[in-house]
Amino acid sequence: MNSFDLETLAIREGYEQTPEQENSEAIFPTSSFRYQSAAQAAARFSGEETGNIYSRFTNPTVRAFENRLAAMEGGESCVATASGMSAILATFMSLLEAGDHIVSSQSIFGTTKVLLTKYLTRFGIGITFVSQTDLTEWQGAVKPNTKAFFLETPSNPLTEIADLEALSQLAKQHDSLLIVDNCFCTPILQRPLEQGADIVIHSATKFIDGQGRAVGGAVVGSADLVGEEIYGFMRTAGPTMSTFNAWIFLKGLETLSVRMKAHCENAMQLSQWLVEHPAVDEVFYPGLESHPQYELGLKQMSAGGGLVSFKIRGGQDEAWQVIDNTKMLSITANLGDVKTSITHPATTTHSRIEPEIKLATGISDNLIRISVGLESIEDIKKDLAAGLNKIV
Ligand SMILES: *Cc1c(COP(=O)(O)O)cnc(C)c1O
Repeated sequence: MNSFDLETLAIREGYEQTPEQENSEAIFPTSSFRYQSAAQAAARFSGEETGNIYSRFTNPTVRAFENRLAAMEGGESCVATASGMSAILATFMSLLEAGDHIVSSQSIFGTTKVLLTKYLTRFGIGITFVSQTDLTEWQGAVKPNTKAFFLETPSNPLTEIADLEALSQLAKQHDSLLIVDNCFCTPILQRPLEQGADIVIHSATKFIDGQGRAVGGAVVGSADLVGEEIYGFMRTAGPTMSTFNAWIFLKGLETLSVRMKAHCENAMQLSQWLVEHPAVDEVFYPGLESHPQYELGLKQMSAGGGLVSFKIRGGQDEAWQVIDNTKMLSITANLGDVKTSITHPATTTHSRIEPEIKLATGISDNLIRISVGLESIEDIKKDLAAGLNKIV
């Protein structure tokens, strides 16, 4: 199947027809599978015969999703998980041990930061946080026991871009793995494995679902690292993706390409409009030529993505006023939905960060983040204009 283009893989890969000859992928809600004989059961358990045993390890619907996403990311293996966070946990638990060290971008998802600093450190794993964009900081943070580099790009909410090729070279020089959370771009906009990353992680909850219905995650990479190591952890520890959710994500992949293109188009138009608005101070969007890493973005992403952030003239009161004056937009921290969402990072997603760090990393009180959905762009602008026009 790998000779097909991405759009075709998203629709055709991973489909295994049953004797019913269904055209849409079947869903297999079963916890276990049965055998024709005691001998067959024994052969399955010993690994002599491949096949399903129990849905904590394998399930045909989950496997269809895994095979499709693996093909789209260009990886040999994929393991689906119960959430994006359990995909990250499974990756670290499988590939690291006590005494190891991780270098991570400081601009990562807040809960991932808590996982690293509060929980992984308890098991003797060291972490150093560095600037997303400063290569010398990454270089300087490497220790003899460094085993992994971790980042997501573009970052949330300020859309800083990490240089995947440069960081993958640095990781290789130090025998470390480059692990990339590709949740914001999806394989439609960016394929980190092709740019030297070893592991790609997803929160399928976001753009892969695309309609805000289910929580899930996935890890993609080589047959050794993902197919053996991470799969081994997943089947033992059990953060398995539910069959029903796998079916939703599988169908989500089929429309991912057209949705991502539409998200990017709306986000581009919204950021251009925001740049011109007198109540807006600064707009963060990789598709704008004014973005400090516009060239790097062009090189490693096929479009700017669906997230737009901006700073308004004023502080928290004005930011909340813009949010509270919307009538259509969803006030929620989720992203990647067809419904546009608006959020105030400083008091929600980033509220637990120390005030000095918030300031240093640009999460100011006048910052607003939009996950641009697929409603009419004119209606989205109108809804935002209600509050923005009160500021000027
Ligand atoms: C949401 C998110 C996660 C966590 O995913 P869940 O599915 O909520 O567990 C991880 N990384 C990024 C970048 C996210 O946006």
